[in-house]
Order: sequence, then C-alpha cells, then structure tokens
Amino acid sequence: MTIEYLPLQSGDKMPLIGFGCWKVDPKDAPETIYNAIKVGYRLIDSASNYKNEEAIGKGINMAIKDGLVKREELFVTTKLWSTYHKKEHVREALEKQLEQLGLDYVDMFLVHFPLPLKHVPIDVKYPPGWYQPGEDVITLDRAPMHECWAAMEQLVEAGLTRNIGVSNFNVQLLMDMLTYAKIKPALLQVELHPYLQQEHLVRWVQQQGIAVTAYSSFGPTSFIATGSKRAKGVEPLFENPTIKDIAAKYNRNPSEVCLRWSLERNVAVVPKSLNVDRMKMNLSALDWKMDEEDVQAINQLDMGLRFNDPMVNAQKLPIFY
Ligand code: NAD
Repeated sequence: MTIEYLPLQSGDKMPLIGFGCWKVDPKDAPETIYNAIKVGYRLIDSASNYKNEEAIGKGINMAIKDGLVKREELFVTTKLWSTYHKKEHVREALEKQLEQLGLDYVDMFLVHFPLPLKHVPIDVKYPPGWYQPGEDVITLDRAPMHECWAAMEQLVEAGLTRNIGVSNFNVQLLMDMLTYAKIKPALLQVELHPYLQQEHLVRWVQQQGIAVTAYSSFGPTSFIATGSKRAKGVEPLFENPTIKDIAAKYNRNPSEVCLRWSLERNVAVVPKSLNVDRMKMNLSALDWKMDEEDVQAINQLDMGLRFNDPMVNAQKLPIFY
C-alpha cells in the first residue's frame, strides 16, 4: 500500500486517506488507532469535541513506541472547539489538546465550526460540548473570526501546529478570511458524499490553493447512530443502484466507490471503522481508478442532502443557510 498525498501551501504533504475518530468510544480508541496505524493509515483526524482525544493519543503513542511509525511519518489533525474562539483562549485550547494527545505538535489544526460559542473554562468542564454547563440552549460569544485566525497563525509561529485550516466554512467566510489572513487556510474540511456534492464550493476552494477533505463520505450511514431522521428517511448510499452497479463493474464494495469518487475529485477522505477488515478495505480506495463516465454517473446523485446540520440537530443553528 503506497499512501498518496495532497500538497499543502506550507510544503507539507497531507495523506489522501486518513482515519476518522468521531464516535470512537474512548475504551476502544487506543486499540483502534493502533490497528489503523498498523494497517497503514498515516493521518488521524481528531477533535476536542469527539471527547476521546486522550485515548486517541494513547493509541498513537503506543504505535510510535512499538516502532510501527515515527512521529514525523504521521499526520495528526485536530480541531479548535467553538468555545475557544476568543483570541485569548485559542492557544490554551491547543495546549490542552496536545497534553491529552501526548504530542508536542499537531500537523493540522482546524477551526471546527464558524461558530463562536461562549467560553467555558477548561477547569470548569472539558471538553464542554455545545452548551454552558447545566444549560441546554446555545449561547454565542463576540469572537470575530479575524481575531481567532490571528491567534491560530501564532500557533504556527510557536511550532504547536504545522498547518492551520477550517471546517464547515462556506465561500463567503473564506473570501473574507483571504482578505486578512497572513497564513491562508491550508485546508477546508466539509461534509461531502454523493448526496451532498457541494461542487461550486469544492472547485472554488481548490482554485484558491486550499486542499479539501470530505467528511462523512458514506453519507447517511454515520448518522443513523445519531438518531438523524434525515438519515433514516433516505436510501443508504451502499444500496443505491448507481453505486452498486459501479461497485459490481470494478468488483469493489459500494463503500470503496464512495471513497474513490472523492479521490477522483482530488478531495481527501477520513473514513472511520473499528473493524480491521473495513479499515483495510477503505484504504484500498487508493489502489484503483474509476472511469470518468462512472464519476459522471455519481455526480447525478447529488441531492444537496446535508446530515451534519446544526439546524436540524438539537442546536437549531442555521449556519449553512
Ligand atoms: P463515515 O462516513 O466514515 O462513516 C462511518 C460509518 O460507516 C460507521 O458506521 C462505520 O461502521 C461504517 N463503515 C466504515 N467503513 C465501512 C465499510 N467499508 N463498509 C461498510 N460500512 C463502513 O462517517 P463519519 O465518522 O461521520 O466521518 C468520518 C470522519 O470525518 C469522522 O470520524 C471525523 O473524523 C470526521 N468528521 C468531521 C466533522 C467536522 O465537523 N469537521 C463532522 C463529521 C465527521
């Protein structure tokens, strides 16, 4: 298995396939991450809000200690949670995450959402989730993105992260950021799958020299577990006739077709599975190519159907509207 990479503006190379850590139970995480590295993953996609970073870090460090990989061969991505957007909280947030991960630096630090939530001190609750402790409604904070981003840039200067980027941002906000960024965002990570293709966003962002990572490449599959009504009401991608026919043509699985379709758009992926055979299968999306006619057939499946939407989830925040 040869890992392929996307070039970043810093000169670093980001693996095209990484391992996603959302919803990995902390009790499973050390072994899962160890196995992922053992089967060949070189990018680990983490976040404070996944509430498992200490356990993810254990897995990473076990793999390094056992000689499976050197730190410099790994690409560790993590994300700034929304309660730390104020300029005075950005560094303390990453320092806390590095402590939990047991690492000196990460390779990519992303602003997780374009959504400033009221600060919750680390010693009061960590990680704090979406709400103030004891509350169940969102409280926004006055934390402008240009100040947050300047603090993110200082983390690169301090050597705490090699690259910085954003997640769940739209073109309007990115256009504004490009007017003041001293370090341009290196990466945009957004929900992308055949049912939510965001073609204009992807193309424009790539034209700016910003790399793109797809999350939730299997569409509804990941969101059944969250109780999403949207996910329950739609045909699973793995059962979609177009996806199944293309899978049969190449003697591949539908999951591989979903991942390969992203790679054909020069978009990186971070699939998650606890099962070692599936981990390997997902990595093997690097091993083959899909004909343009099949890419075009999948392009017809777009429904603009978003599953990770804080508007339909409990938060009731229309950030994508
Ligand atoms: P995913 O699309 O990777 O799907 C995961 C689901 O698919 C799991 O139920 C898993 O069991 C199943 N699966 C995995 N491989 C399979 C295979 N080969 N065959 C059949 N089923 C398979 O879902 P995801 O976890 O939502 O997204 C991937 C990663 O993206 C996350 O773990 C996280 O790291 C990242 N992410 C980021 C954000 C963000 O806001 N930036 C949001 C969601 C996810």
